[in-house]
Amino acid sequence: MRGLCHVLLRIYYVTLGLTLLYGDKLVTTYLTQGVSGLLKVLTGLELLEFIVFAAVFIDIARAPDCDVVCSGTVLGYIAHIPVKPFLRTHRGWYHSVWVAIYVSVVVSAVITVLAMGVNIISNHLGFGSVLPLVKLAITAFSASFLSYLFHLVEDSLTLRGIRWFGVRTRGPLRTGSSDIVVVSAIVLTSALATWVAYYFTGSLSQGAVLGFLVLVLVFASMLEIRR
Ligand SMILES: [Zn+2]
Repeated sequence: MRGLCHVLLRIYYVTLGLTLLYGDKLVTTYLTQGVSGLLKVLTGLELLEFIVFAAVFIDIARAPDCDVVCSGTVLGYIAHIPVKPFLRTHRGWYHSVWVAIYVSVVVSAVITVLAMGVNIISNHLGFGSVLPLVKLAITAFSASFLSYLFHLVEDSLTLRGIRWFGVRTRGPLRTGSSDIVVVSAIVLTSALATWVAYYFTGSLSQGAVLGFLVLVLVFASMLEIRR
């Protein structure tokens, strides 16, 4: 699947996740307190963790494809350097769950070191340690691991497929030709389901649940097509 498709899907997952977690809260606050209430809720969220999560999640979207070309991923590029001489085939071992763990450990370490740097500087300036290291390390690891795993799931929808623990899983998608059209159609269908459910139930979170279920159903049926 093309890199653009992976990135597009990541942006949609983040949006859907936010809708699921905070949708109702945002709507009620907006209706009762207007824009200022909305801003209060938004700044009340753990904004730093969210930014780190979203940035890592989107950056790692293309990391598994470093076994062909390493482009569009900063953290994926760093993790790829030590293993570069051992990579022979595209979608070989670099498209596996084990590498998802390896890359996520590297990503978590990089984010922790960066945060430590910020803490050292802020300590020096007399502000104390401003960043929560453990929280950020866990956030970075989970964002990277999920993003890598989703890449493998998405590649499973293509003709070439992915080898999951020795078993190859394939789908009907042709990489590079129609994949972006199909991915856009999947995203639009899921988003439409979210809005229809919101319209009837009045709850954005419930809408997001339906949108998520539609996404799972479409992925599952695409895998079923090739059986
Ligand atoms: Zn791939």
